[in-house]
Amino acid sequence: MGVYHQEKVVDLVCGMEISRGDHDTLISSYNGQPYYFCAPCCIKAFERNPERYLKPKGPFGRFLARLVKANVKVFGRAGPPCH
Ligand SMILES: [Zn+2]
Repeated sequence: MGVYHQEKVVDLVCGMEISRGDHDTLISSYNGQPYYFCAPCCIKAFERNPERYLKPKGPFGRFLARLVKANVKVFGRAGPPCH
């Protein structure tokens, strides 16, 4: 098993895993924190309502987090289609 060091971040809107350095990756900042997105539709959704994506709390939030992990496992780099 090799160690893969390229930094991965998760698009908070669609849950897709993206590389920070990817030229397709879009960056938005909120509260001084950078957030990364795979497509204009995702960054727009985030900017319209950042809190919705930043605070998944309780059982539903944990469910979503698990779902994202499952998607990464099943779909790999491409993730579920979101656009
Ligand atoms: Zn996305």
